[in-house]
Amino acid sequence: MEIKKNIFRKLPPRLEGLGEIAANLWWSWHPAARMIFKMIDRQTWKESRHNPVKMLSDLPSELLESAAEDTDYLRRYNVVLSKFRKEIKEKECRILNDIVDPEIHSIAYFSAEYGLHHSIPFYAGGLGFLAGDFIKACSDLSVPLTAVGFMYPEGYFLQRIREDGWQENIDQILDRDASSIIRVLGDDGQQLTVKVPLIEPPLYVAVWKIDVGRVPLYLMDTDIEINDPWNRTISAHLYSGDIEQRLRQEIVLGIGGSEVLETLGIKRSILHLNEGHPAFALLERIRDQVQAGKTYEEALQQVKTTTVFTTHTPVPAGHDVFPFHLMEKYFNSYWPALGLDHDRFLKLGIHPNDPNAGFNMTAFALRMSGYCNAVSKRHAEVTRQMWQSLWPDLPQDKVPIDYVTNGVHVPKWIEPRLELLFNKYLYPNWLDDHDNPFIWEMIDEIPDDELWKTHYWLKIKLIDAIRERSRQRWTNNQVSASIVLAGGALLDPSVLTIGFARRFATYKRADLIFYDIERLKRLLNDRWRPIQIIFAGKAHPADDPGKRILQKVFNATRDPAMAGRIAFLENYGEQFAQYMVHGVDVWLNNPLPPMEACGTSGMKAALNGVPHLSILDGWWCEGFNGKNGWAFGLEEIEGNRNQSDAEAIYNILENEVIPKYYKVSADGIRRDWVRIMKESIKSNAPKFSAIRMVREYIKKFYVNALKNV
Ligand SMILES: *Cc1c(COP(=O)(O)O)cnc(C)c1O
Repeated sequence: MEIKKNIFRKLPPRLEGLGEIAANLWWSWHPAARMIFKMIDRQTWKESRHNPVKMLSDLPSELLESAAEDTDYLRRYNVVLSKFRKEIKEKECRILNDIVDPEIHSIAYFSAEYGLHHSIPFYAGGLGFLAGDFIKACSDLSVPLTAVGFMYPEGYFLQRIREDGWQENIDQILDRDASSIIRVLGDDGQQLTVKVPLIEPPLYVAVWKIDVGRVPLYLMDTDIEINDPWNRTISAHLYSGDIEQRLRQEIVLGIGGSEVLETLGIKRSILHLNEGHPAFALLERIRDQVQAGKTYEEALQQVKTTTVFTTHTPVPAGHDVFPFHLMEKYFNSYWPALGLDHDRFLKLGIHPNDPNAGFNMTAFALRMSGYCNAVSKRHAEVTRQMWQSLWPDLPQDKVPIDYVTNGVHVPKWIEPRLELLFNKYLYPNWLDDHDNPFIWEMIDEIPDDELWKTHYWLKIKLIDAIRERSRQRWTNNQVSASIVLAGGALLDPSVLTIGFARRFATYKRADLIFYDIERLKRLLNDRWRPIQIIFAGKAHPADDPGKRILQKVFNATRDPAMAGRIAFLENYGEQFAQYMVHGVDVWLNNPLPPMEACGTSGMKAALNGVPHLSILDGWWCEGFNGKNGWAFGLEEIEGNRNQSDAEAIYNILENEVIPKYYKVSADGIRRDWVRIMKESIKSNAPKFSAIRMVREYIKKFYVNALKNV
């Protein structure tokens, strides 16, 4: 494995450990580790956008030399470095201990996207953050897991909003060497390249690696010289809009990814497919077994009983379906190696309700995986209904699709100041055991004004960051004043602030709150108790309806009748997600039920004392308890439900949220509001944490699947 020699050569010997820490994403969820970079020079840290590798490469050597002489600095450095080394070396899994020898067994986790940190833009939205949070929690719990995905050299696009409010997509090329990504080297000392088997014309991937704490994540890059130009761009972007290129992406992910693990000698006792995109990995596992002498049926049985498939979307367009002629083109030399013929092979991906539509990746994965799950209780009900035709002999409630409700990685999403506050009032080491609900009862010990002051400070930090961005846009980009206003220049920290930030997929209905524009204006313009709303999110480049909703929202922000109290933040990503979920007062969520499989941004907010105002869909059906936020939309409504849902939101705002927020007790403290904040934290944080989720995957699936290895 190559260490970033060019960057770390200049480290003084006393501080060599900084290179070790910067090269492992562990720093991204340990505030103390980030602090030892920030302490060297705040400005370079800020300019690197909180990326230690970039920072170390930009930092003048004198500053490193002087840090190496500073005893206070060295003390902190030593604490962090020893903690890092101890944790990374600790290999054994506390939960899987009895049945797993990590040297022998390993779980291979495949996902098309990973949301890890904004310096590594390999995500489009929730699915990616789920995968990123999942592997971080696996690292914390020492689960013997290896993750596989794509190196997207052009990442997800940069979003710019034109003067007319239309989203433009600007490609940006990632500097692969300026982040915590390392080249995997082959025996010849060159970067390892692997040929994707049985696919013509030949296709190669270069292999990269990110160390995510104890979990290695291998990334495949098709942008190498040996590939022809069309092949080179396979990994350029997430989710190609071109169907054939999309198929080729999924071939590389599933089949290429398996070959990479094989080449590296990594065992794959269990295969875990995060969504249908990597499902071709199943074929490689079967092919291995057939080559070893098993019949197709025997091989399938073995593969099935050791495969976990997690489905994430109830939106039909979210399931990839490939035309048969393309499947034939790419797999005609493949199916004989499985012991199958043309018809039997294509049947693996047929949806019984629509057999002529093509090869459906979700139908395929559901058929071939012994452990299938949805990502919330509600989503499991919807998924069983959607896919019942695959199990025609079973009643709907017996369809073998279980669920594990998603969770978020608490050490990553908790704001460091809140973490300090919790350190003071919860048990010491609460973070090591944070899926234990009893620990969170102690939240009541925090004095109301301390919690409120911390929150208010975070709101100011958010609004400052937004204004600073607006100022830069104004100064550097020569945009009109109205674009600057739209960016949030008039936001006011004393005003009740609602956050709405996620992908601009149409079913998420970002424009719902504009349904009755007069009623909204009254809320925004109330002289004594106004509200303000901050929007952010990207529409998929091929999603014009999504872009139209974005345009509508964006243009509303510029209407003087909205009083500058609505803002749209450009280019939403992990960094602003952090500011938003820490700093707004209420998190709004109003997708069209039952389209939200789970949703996770509301969990991130709830954990930070930002209560959820949400339609009852996804995780909120399990999360809402009457005291920890607000819910609406339980009734089944035929046809267009926008009106009733919008009215429900206005009613909740007018009758509950606004009066509670603006009520201040005689001693000057917002007691009622802080009570909801506390309830939000203690009821949601343990239950919707990623370590609760990983433990559930272990108990429900991994433990059983390992018995079949
Ligand atoms: C958590 C997160 C998401 C997912 O949000 P949902 O509410 O689940 O749609 C999307 N984007 C970013 C940047 C996130 O951090």
